[in-house]
Amino acid sequence: MSISVAIDGPSGAGKSTLARRLAAEMGFVYVDTGAMYRSIGLYALESGTDPHDAAGVEALLPQIRLEARPVPGGQQMLLNGRDVTEQVRREEVGMAASAVSALPAVRAFLLEKQRQMAASQNVLMDGRDIGTVVLPGATVKIFLTAAPQARALRRQKELEAKGQARPYSEVLADVMQRDEQDSTRASAPLRQAEDAVRLDTTYLNFEESFVRLREIICRRAGLL
Ligand code: C5P
Repeated sequence: MSISVAIDGPSGAGKSTLARRLAAEMGFVYVDTGAMYRSIGLYALESGTDPHDAAGVEALLPQIRLEARPVPGGQQMLLNGRDVTEQVRREEVGMAASAVSALPAVRAFLLEKQRQMAASQNVLMDGRDIGTVVLPGATVKIFLTAAPQARALRRQKELEAKGQARPYSEVLADVMQRDEQDSTRASAPLRQAEDAVRLDTTYLNFEESFVRLREIICRRAGLL
């Protein structure tokens, strides 16, 4: 039977960087479910549809073909055959993803796809509702979090490194808005599964977070 590790938590807690590296080390497939929501957000923006418009976005779904391909060190995201891996990382696409992800039709569209990916291979799946909705029977569930201020600071540094510097106050406001949207929506809100292990990285650097995360997963999955 395949092993599945669910990693949920708010944006900026370090999930994707940690999960990507851990998956590579453990020989697991890394599945970034956020990139799938981002691809739908991108498609809505490109077709001039308001990502909050439920009927409008739902009408687009039959035109969307998504493929999340495992590649060394991560995942390649294909939207109707086009590689959008980099493009979906943009700030405005993240906001659009947050809006479309609140729509039940969008969540239903992705649910089966995500379950199938975990059915036949060992996966480390990163998202918001993996432990609660997508893989309730996951071998290990992690809820990775950090204070909004710490997450905003990390995000600000990332943006700076990419030459897209923004004031801290703006980045913090975005982080808090995204948290609010993700945790108050009616459909699959962000919350910790009862049987998830909580790891707070506010006061941990990347290396410390990585060691803690690896230890929890290996111990829980019986890999130690
Ligand atoms: O993780 P990432 O920031 O790439 O996710 C983008 C957005 O997609 C999140 O703000 C969240 O609203 C949504 N999402 C979700 N469920 C998931 C993964 C992401 O609702 N499993």
